[in-house]
Amino acid sequence: MKKTDIHKTKILREDELRDAADILLRGDTLIFPTETVYGLGARYDSDEALRKIFEAKGRPSDNPLILHVADASWVENIACDIPREAWELMKAFWPGPLSLVLKKQDHISSLISAGLSSVAVRCPSHALAHQLIEAVGLPIAAPSANPSGRPSPTREIDVLEMVGKVDGILLGGDCMVGLESTVLDLSGENPLVLRPGAVTLEEIRTFLPGAQRYLGDPQKAPSPGLRHRHYAPDARVTLLRGSERALLSFIASASPTSCFLLPSDLNIDFDHVHTIAFLPEGHPEEAAARLYALLRDADRAGMEEVYIAEFSSEGIGEALMDRVLRAAQGNILTLEEV
Ligand code: AMP
Ligand code: MG
Repeated sequence: MKKTDIHKTKILREDELRDAADILLRGDTLIFPTETVYGLGARYDSDEALRKIFEAKGRPSDNPLILHVADASWVENIACDIPREAWELMKAFWPGPLSLVLKKQDHISSLISAGLSSVAVRCPSHALAHQLIEAVGLPIAAPSANPSGRPSPTREIDVLEMVGKVDGILLGGDCMVGLESTVLDLSGENPLVLRPGAVTLEEIRTFLPGAQRYLGDPQKAPSPGLRHRHYAPDARVTLLRGSERALLSFIASASPTSCFLLPSDLNIDFDHVHTIAFLPEGHPEEAAARLYALLRDADRAGMEEVYIAEFSSEGIGEALMDRVLRAAQGNILTLEEV
């Protein structure tokens, strides 16, 4: 980074919401909390402001941004040819962790849509995010607030790593969901879940029985973000498969720079391996809320390897395993019975 690119970052709290809104209104960048992950926002109607998002994240320009709105009525000024089902979904799941990809109106900047003819919109349920959007009075364009490729930030300690890269950070504690929103594409012929999240395909199918998960080649993905390396810490991530016995014996011989994310019902005494986190099996929402924080902590602790056991893909478990597989970038270790 050139010296002139270093930003003086204002750290703000809830009672300084007006200052946070002013940062956005004057065309600067602000990190703010949402229920999914922290977002890195700019006003949607200024290309100069939008460019600052890509600079701060080192984000490739073919990766589009999500527009954050205060309520569904704002979508009328953003999208066109909005199908009836989109309104039903907004009514059912907004405010909440569902982004809808719709045909965009001409005035939406191609920096937001990454040159596509569509735009993603979402109405966050986080109280501070909602108040911020209302105070700004305009949609806020925001991707997740991580440097491109890294796990998304879900805690205050994580976003503070962006000091110097953005103009403001509005702190709001831990994000409740902890994984990025479900992205549902309604701009094509068939409804497609491009990215799984806390709103599940099953829930979407109650409104759109024909909805499918996009399972094609990520290089041809209609959601450009899926093409990029994502959610990975510096440590090498491996998905571990195998019986409880095989897992136990593998853990017993692991190096001290290895750490493990395991289901909490695994019945073992781990005194010899201190870097272990248990994710509550049967409560995938708790595991999802902690995943990115644990990946970031592994880097902070200087771990070289993170082994993650397979969790159930029920409910938000599908999104959880999607992010684990992306962080693992194809590293899967199937343990043989000993
Ligand atoms: P982030 O908030 O960092 O997860 O980034 C937004 C993500 O939303 C992108 O990486 C895409 O996967 C998705 N997205 C945003 N706009 C579109 C769009 N017009 N078409 C398809 N996917 C989109
Ligand atoms: Mg992101």
